[in-house]
Amino acid sequence: PAAILSDPTLFKSSAYVNGGWVSQGESGSYELFNPSTGARLTELPKLSRGQVARAIDDAHEAYLSWRQIPAKSRSILLRRWFDLITANSDDLARLIVLEEGKPFAEAKGEVAYAASFVEWFSEEAKRVRGDIMAAPEKGRRIVVLKEPVGVCAAITPWNFPAAMITRKAAPALAAGCTMVVKPAEHTPLTALALAELAERAGIPKGVFNVVMGKAREIGPELTGNVLVRKITFTGSTEVGRLLLEQASATIKKASMELGGNAPLIVFDDADLDEAVEGMIATKYRNTGQACISANRAYVQAGIYDRFVKQLAERVAVLKVGDGFDAGVQQGPLIDAAALEKVEEHIADAVSKGAKVISGGKRHARGGLFFEPTVLAGVTSDMRVTREETFGPVAPVVRFETEAEAIAMANDTEFGLAAYLFSKDAARIWRVAASIEAGMIGINTGLISNEIAPFGGVKQSGIGREGSVYGIEEFLEMKYLAWQGA
Ligand code: ADP
Repeated sequence: PAAILSDPTLFKSSAYVNGGWVSQGESGSYELFNPSTGARLTELPKLSRGQVARAIDDAHEAYLSWRQIPAKSRSILLRRWFDLITANSDDLARLIVLEEGKPFAEAKGEVAYAASFVEWFSEEAKRVRGDIMAAPEKGRRIVVLKEPVGVCAAITPWNFPAAMITRKAAPALAAGCTMVVKPAEHTPLTALALAELAERAGIPKGVFNVVMGKAREIGPELTGNVLVRKITFTGSTEVGRLLLEQASATIKKASMELGGNAPLIVFDDADLDEAVEGMIATKYRNTGQACISANRAYVQAGIYDRFVKQLAERVAVLKVGDGFDAGVQQGPLIDAAALEKVEEHIADAVSKGAKVISGGKRHARGGLFFEPTVLAGVTSDMRVTREETFGPVAPVVRFETEAEAIAMANDTEFGLAAYLFSKDAARIWRVAASIEAGMIGINTGLISNEIAPFGGVKQSGIGREGSVYGIEEFLEMKYLAWQGA
């Protein structure tokens, strides 16, 4: 498979620790498969807990000098990494298609999004600043310094193999932290290519490390090792809860980007085309496998029938296939369990009275492909509205009043994203103020970029990534009470 890259040396099958490639895993190895074709891609080492502990030692050693170099020098290195990611974006996108399955155009979009964090934080590296305050005592000053947290462990998911790494690594490195990343089992290749490019950019050994192994064996090292001062995670709420519990033993700082159950609310006064396109963008991107994907649509009675009809027409013509085939808009699901969950959610909804308007079953292509689906007549007792389906299914619920829509939208333990479609600005202010979510898309289904703060409330997470706030997650304050200053 390396042959499809313009630069086949970006295809790596070893862990990357302290500037070296580790091909021998003390806990064995595992095989990686392409979710579109089922073809074997490569074999990767499974590092043991001891090997990960040594990687953390190396990252700590590197931290002691990385934190000392001028922020401007770190900024220049990150900028070089950004330039190399951009110059190799076709190859990175090909690796994403190979291991994750999303369409090539989407993969290119992800690489640009991933690179934008490296660019942004190369700039922000230079803008970390402290504060000086008037003290209550005579002859004294209060000085606040900002210092890097230390070694950070990152555990990332498979759905955005490049962006979920750079969104964490770029601010960490900019702040002067070093990082050990454990990418998802399904998507190590993109992470390793990023490591190769970091090395080419001149980022010193030990600053950015990529390890892989059995999550349950090496996870406790990443969350328990005293040299790791911060854990940053993107993934399910269930695993996030476990990691927080493990990290509590050594009181680590934590950032958590967890599951979502995003509502998309369409009011009678919305622009129908805009609402349907917004739904397509948030729901079917990456085959619905995004934590900010609209999980459930609430559509007001006056526009409901037209919305369902137009959505179903658009969804019926989405082209499903291998991400490398021209014009494909919808790839496979990541694995058999994901496919089964989608089937179960649809079966549950249908058994409780929902109607399949479009799709509804495994795709004729077989494998891990599923038909893009629209369900109408959905009600709040169905699993599709309560659990994250993480697949190409749009359940559409009818509502009458604004208060009813708000109550249904907030009736969940999650609070990541929400989407509103309306042309009434007063209503938008009112509803946005009432929705319990970290991010709200208004008349748009696309909300992610490096300049905005990404993150959730409730059981969707802790902390924010990207934006001017993102670097703060990797900084500690130190206060000097300075008498005679
Ligand atoms: P998803 O549903 O997106 O696969 P998960 O939360 O299962 O989300 O996985 C996200 C990341 O968490 C992956 O890198 C996975 O390997 C890792 N992970 C899963 N279980 C554990 C665990 N017990 N300890 C540490 N990491 C884990």
